[in-house]
Amino acid sequence: MARKLNFFSSNNREKLIKEISSSFFDVLVIGGGITGAGICLDAASRGFKVCLVDMADFASGTSSKSTKLIHGGLRYLEQFNFKLVKETGTERAILHNLAPHIVKPEKMLLPITKEGKLGKFSTSLALKIYDYLAKVDNSDKKKMLSEKDTLNCEPLLRNKNITGGALYSEYRTDDSRLTIDILKKSYTYGALPINYLKFEKLLYKNEKIIGAICEDILSNKKINISSKTIINASGSWADEVLNEKKKKIVLSKGVHIVIPFKKLPLKQSIYFDALDNRMIFAIPRNKTIYIGTTDTFFDRKKDRLRVLKKEVKYLIDSANKFFSVKINNNDILSSWVGLRPLIREKNKQVTEISRKDEIFISKNGLITIAGGKLTGYRKMSERVVDLLCNKLFNLNKKCITKNIKLFDTSFDEYLTKGKKLNASHKDLIKIYNIYGSKGIQIFEIQNDYNSKIKNKRLLISELIYCLKNEMCHNLIDFFTQRNAMVYFEIERINSSVDFIKKPYMKFKNISNDEWKKELCDLKSYINKITNFI
Ligand SMILES: Cc1cc2nc3c(=O)[nH]c(=O)nc-3n(C[C@H](O)[C@H](O)[C@H](O)COP(=O)(O)OP(=O)(O)OC[C@H]3O[C@@H](n4cnc5c(N)ncnc54)[C@H](O)[C@@H]3O)c2cc1C
Repeated sequence: MARKLNFFSSNNREKLIKEISSSFFDVLVIGGGITGAGICLDAASRGFKVCLVDMADFASGTSSKSTKLIHGGLRYLEQFNFKLVKETGTERAILHNLAPHIVKPEKMLLPITKEGKLGKFSTSLALKIYDYLAKVDNSDKKKMLSEKDTLNCEPLLRNKNITGGALYSEYRTDDSRLTIDILKKSYTYGALPINYLKFEKLLYKNEKIIGAICEDILSNKKINISSKTIINASGSWADEVLNEKKKKIVLSKGVHIVIPFKKLPLKQSIYFDALDNRMIFAIPRNKTIYIGTTDTFFDRKKDRLRVLKKEVKYLIDSANKFFSVKINNNDILSSWVGLRPLIREKNKQVTEISRKDEIFISKNGLITIAGGKLTGYRKMSERVVDLLCNKLFNLNKKCITKNIKLFDTSFDEYLTKGKKLNASHKDLIKIYNIYGSKGIQIFEIQNDYNSKIKNKRLLISELIYCLKNEMCHNLIDFFTQRNAMVYFEIERINSSVDFIKKPYMKFKNISNDEWKKELCDLKSYINKITNFI
């Protein structure tokens, strides 16, 4: 749908809010994480008029804090959750087809040890079932490895305990980019997603929901949004939005740490035994490796969510025990921590609770979807929108998201266009791996800036692109959800803020004091993810 104004430009926020408050929607989605984004695209592509609100930045909740794997969840086989493994396993190839720039095949090594959780027979059987349920191509099916082959595959393994291993197929992704790409696609189908707009309460007429009151977090103004139906996809905040006595979800905290690649130079991603009979991942990304995750019950205030020293110690000690390396606290470059919204199950520890999703319909008509995984977002969204079609709107419209690609042009076309713009191959790949083929616009913008150093020009253009096209409102949005620099290239941030200052202030038309305030917020964010309590 062509629009006169680009509502994804941060400059057009006021007009977007005006448009939202004067419209009548079929569906209002609360929450701009992967679940809400998926619903927004599915509903818009079936012809519904959709609005989505997030109280903070898109994907700033759990959907930027995952292990960043599109996976069937091998460990769910232990819970005999074949349905979940089949669904998420099958989704992997579909999502790779829809977003090849950010959903990429990845071989995962699973070393088998004498005292480890999985033996050779159980690993082979589990992976066979996994491959079968996920309909993995013959060439990608698991390979069992001898002790020697496993050590050849990963020389850093401590060889004393290794008895063999397995190589199997997974996919890695960029969780927040996937969420933002889906939201941008939903906009082309007529949806109006907006960040920094907080749902506060429902609006009723004759006991029927007719919309919601929201607060614009950037201006503190209240706005009313009219909508026939409301979907609560607020993840870890689902119970707060529901506002019912009986809680539906329980939260599990998961931490990842990032270290320099040279401290643990793995040849591929590894799923290995942690200190306590759990399994964790070590995943190479650019010049870093990230290790995670923990899985512990969390019942504190969400704004107090921080990485604890003991969680860092657990991850470091696990890696030091499994690999011939000596990692210490000083090696940690960055970290992230997220909350899994899990469906409450009586008398179960969070580690035992299934990662399945569930839909609840409240008496007042509010539809809540909770639980699930990043990998299963498309099927979760399909179930919610099927419900809308069948039960509420009496419409016979089938889900089409399996065929909605999240890119504009092929990789080859992108490269050809980029070369014409005099972009280097290295820069083209770097930008493609974040923004996909839309990233070409960054090189178009780049030609407007005449900074002598190429890297500076590229980052300035990336920033302007995000301000203009991705509803990026501040420095934190840019360095976190837009390009994850605070996690994977944190060392570049200090020098970058100096040279982006001028173009940023100019684009946003802000004063020096406003700039200082933003910088202070960014520094405090960085302080949180690099210092542990
Ligand atoms: C450590 C960890 C590792 C994981 N690893 C993987 C993995 O590798 N693969 C995988 O498939 N899954 C993984 N998961 C699970 C996956 O990340 C989550 O299932 C998924 O991100 C949840 O998305 P969501 O949209 O439901 O929630 P969120 O991403 O948290 O989105 C909810 C949004 O609602 C907004 N919101 C809340 N209240 C309001 C309000 N009142 N008004 C407006 N907006 C509101 C929030 O700001 C937030 O952005 C992992 C989870 C964790 C914690």
